[in-house]
Amino acid sequence: MRLEGKVAVITGGASGIGRETALVFAREGASVGIWDFDESGIEVAQHIEKNGGKSFFARVDVSKIQEVEKALEETEKELGNIDILINNAGITRDGFLTKMASEDWQKVIEVNLTGVFNCSQAVARKMMERQEGVIINSSSVVGVYGNVGQTNYSATKSGVIGLTKTWSKELGKKGIRVNAVAPGFIATPMTEKVPGKILDMMREKTPLGRLGQPEDIANAYLFLASDEGAFVNGAVLQVDGGLVL
Ligand code: NAP
Repeated sequence: MRLEGKVAVITGGASGIGRETALVFAREGASVGIWDFDESGIEVAQHIEKNGGKSFFARVDVSKIQEVEKALEETEKELGNIDILINNAGITRDGFLTKMASEDWQKVIEVNLTGVFNCSQAVARKMMERQEGVIINSSSVVGVYGNVGQTNYSATKSGVIGLTKTWSKELGKKGIRVNAVAPGFIATPMTEKVPGKILDMMREKTPLGRLGQPEDIANAYLFLASDEGAFVNGAVLQVDGGLVL
């Protein structure tokens, strides 16, 4: 078991990639804190507990610092010190530059970028006291290449790469590794909103000829979170089947 005795917090752990990650991490021996806006995260926590694991759900909007601080306090009380933070919560509000409403710009920045900042700042302060920890951020293939119709989303996912590289330098010295995963197109509720025509195009452009599955990303998070990734810091691991946009 690669995460025996570890405590991991997964934001956005109620759905898609985050849900799968919670289940994989629990199977690998971690106690799992699920921080999500979506109350169905309770069922993920219950499923883990029924299978002999330890889990705790906190309803939290990651863009609100007071809610993050409350969730951190409750999670530490229930599960202990946090060893691993997966900043996985994210949203889309797609539109072309010339048509994008400023609320859609703001909302995506607040969740995908400020949310990552809030959770990392709160948890990193605690990790620094213990001089150890792992933070993994969710970027995207569109943060690497850009994508038509995703001005707000691609800006946040490129921004996450900047945060990852900066924090790997600031926190690496304190024993905390910081990396990012940049998924390609993954079959989750998020991509259910994408028109089928676009998904077919993405599948065709992907050398491996398929969309990714949540476990493809959960396994990348697992590698980076475990001691197998002990010398990986400041990396952006592209898990996209070779897709180039
Ligand atoms: P998903 O199925 O939509 O899951 C995201 C989860 O985050 C949902 O449970 C959502 O709750 C929650 N969430 C949204 N806003 C939140 C907030 N303010 N505070 C706390 N939780 C919040 O998405 P996914 O596809 O698994 O994506 C996971 C991550 O991977 C995201 O960061 C996404 O940008 C990234 N990613 C995904 C893909 C892909 O193709 N799927 C590709 C590249 C990167 P609600 O359901 O209530 O909104």
